[in-house]
Amino acid sequence: MSRMSRLGLIAGSAALTILYSGGGLAAAAAHPNAEVQAWYWFVTEREGYRRIGYTVDAPRLEVFSEALDTIVTNIERGVFPAHPGKPSNDSYENCRFCSFDRCCPADRSAVWARKKTDPVLAGYLTLIGDR
Ligand code: SF4
Repeated sequence: MSRMSRLGLIAGSAALTILYSGGGLAAAAAHPNAEVQAWYWFVTEREGYRRIGYTVDAPRLEVFSEALDTIVTNIERGVFPAHPGKPSNDSYENCRFCSFDRCCPADRSAVWARKKTDPVLAGYLTLIGDR
């Protein structure tokens, strides 16, 4: 199971992960002796009003801290790899909701295959469970 999966979230939702986990962190700081839970709630009938969540405990916080460190470090280094994922319909699985799908290179999968061997992406690959 990848680290992001252990957070109960999907890869590609890093910004939401930070926001929602940040709320859990604030609650844990305000109530240090209380059990704190963080939940993502799908508020549509199409998604069945599902709730995905977890208890904000020490192991989760460690995974969260490592993920956040990897993300921030890569932002500081200017590492923003275009990672399309597997082919899906007429595009790629990670590109379905991306605003850049129409302007990203058509050979993006080949570019990713070449770039993913660069050592600078080691932390990112570990984060997404691709190591
Ligand atoms: S369209 Fe390009 S930038 Fe957007 S998710 Fe796909 S590879 Fe990444």
